[in-house]
Amino acid sequence: MVKYKRIVLKISGEALAGDAGFGIQPPVIAKIAKEIKAVHDLGVQIAIVCGGGNMWRGEAGAAMGIERAQADYIGMLGTVMNGLALQDALEQIDVPTRVQTSIEMRQIAEPYIRRKAVRHLEKGRVVIFSAGTGNPYFSTDTTAALRAAEINADVILMGKNGVDGVYSADPAKDATAVKYDHLTHMDIIAKGLNVMDTTASSLSMDNDIPLVVFNMNEPGNIERVVKGENVGTTIEG
Ligand code: UDP
Repeated sequence: MVKYKRIVLKISGEALAGDAGFGIQPPVIAKIAKEIKAVHDLGVQIAIVCGGGNMWRGEAGAAMGIERAQADYIGMLGTVMNGLALQDALEQIDVPTRVQTSIEMRQIAEPYIRRKAVRHLEKGRVVIFSAGTGNPYFSTDTTAALRAAEINADVILMGKNGVDGVYSADPAKDATAVKYDHLTHMDIIAKGLNVMDTTASSLSMDNDIPLVVFNMNEPGNIERVVKGENVGTTIEG
């Protein structure tokens, strides 16, 4: 039995880049697609929000002198490239998918239409949300929180690249850092923990959406989380 029937899986851009740290690595995406298929086979409704940090970050672009909103649009286009690559990997292993973009580009994907997205999920299609929220100054974490609220998802799964949950401090820099199994949304904000940006955190809190932060690089982890096993850090309440 599964604990969560409708999920939003947030995949950071970095997760698609593998060791290269940049761009798209097809073997890495193929691995992730297999993990998603296993969860799809359980009958779970899956929406995916793709990040774009493997291509471009608006803030970094702005730091190099590009106007911020313009830099953010470049970032949103990066998330579309990732979404299309993920769609390809899923369809190669016979998982039906639809990509919906928050900025219209009808030749390559559907525009985001909430009711249509829900219908696709009900029909067993994996829906990939690309182009973030469609607005500069936002993040794909915020997109995940927003879409999760809109489609009434049971949980947001925050797949991290090698990090297995939320720690009291950066475990790579502080040997005394401890991992939390459970936290509330308020803990994240009050303790200033680095999980999502504050817009995404407050949206998740206000809409009471549980969050599981876990290591995507560990095979079988998405399935474990969906089945309710104690993997990573669960944030709720
Ligand atoms: N972005 C944006 N609005 C959104 C979502 C994303 O402007 O609603 C831009 C922003 O520039 C961001 C980039 O897209 O830096 C890539 O997204 P993000 O950094 O969230 O990707 P991740 O860190 O998850 O790979």
